[in-house]
Amino acid sequence: MTPGLTVGQALVQATRRLAAAGVEGASRDARWLLAWALGTPPERLTLALPEPMTSDTAARFDIAIARRVTHEPVSHITGRRLFWGREFAVDRDVLDPRPETEVLVELALAEPFERVLDLGTGTGCILVTLLAERPEAIGTGTDISAAARSHAWGNAVRHRVSDRVEILASDWFRPLDDRGIAGRFDLVVSNPPYIAAAEMAGLSRDVREHEPRLALTDEGDGLSAYRAIAAGVEKVLAPGGRVLVEIGPAQARAVAAMFRQAGLDDVAVHPDLDGRDRVVSGRG
Ligand code: GLN
Repeated sequence: MTPGLTVGQALVQATRRLAAAGVEGASRDARWLLAWALGTPPERLTLALPEPMTSDTAARFDIAIARRVTHEPVSHITGRRLFWGREFAVDRDVLDPRPETEVLVELALAEPFERVLDLGTGTGCILVTLLAERPEAIGTGTDISAAARSHAWGNAVRHRVSDRVEILASDWFRPLDDRGIAGRFDLVVSNPPYIAAAEMAGLSRDVREHEPRLALTDEGDGLSAYRAIAAGVEKVLAPGGRVLVEIGPAQARAVAAMFRQAGLDDVAVHPDLDGRDRVVSGRG
């Protein structure tokens, strides 16, 4: 980056670099990274535009932009991502929390619950949010990835719910079913890997090259996690307890059919804010 620039000039230069690298939303990302480099809230950035860049800020910003040019997600560069108004620590070992997943959180919070199980908790964004919003509830998060489990724990500590949470290693319900958890949960949630192996090549470079493959795809038809959840969820649900899973927009019929076949009641499909099918729910 050219020395002696104002903040505004640095922003213009960085936006051009990102756009030239084919980064979608170049101007939004440049603003976000500049605010982060300055240590200023993004909404206050405009006030700083006429000021000179200090050499420290310029160096921080330059490195951030160089990383974004390689399509590394903004959240990996800043190390955090906002979800339901809280900051979660993220990196390449965990799925970046998505705004669509807030629909699942909203549905979960629409009814009371005391014990929640989050299958494939990743950053812990769903579980930690639910526990932070319901101070009386306790929760279990599972993940097959050790790195994810340590992220979830760290995020639980950060948001002061760690005294009400346990994080376990498991592959869906294995070996959970041996731990005496039958009938224990009045809420089971999951945002499992649902991209089909054949669809992986069509994902954006940001996602495909920088997010953990294990969190994105089942290496099959994208439905195997739902098969496992449908097969095991009745056993861990308390009578009348709810299950809510996030889905890909084309998976509603298949997942709803699996839930009905598994004997769940009140199976329903819920849209996200863009009107796409996003969550399937059922009752034990
Ligand atoms: N539960 C986490 C989330 O919703 C992780 C999901 C995943 O890794 N597939 O972001």
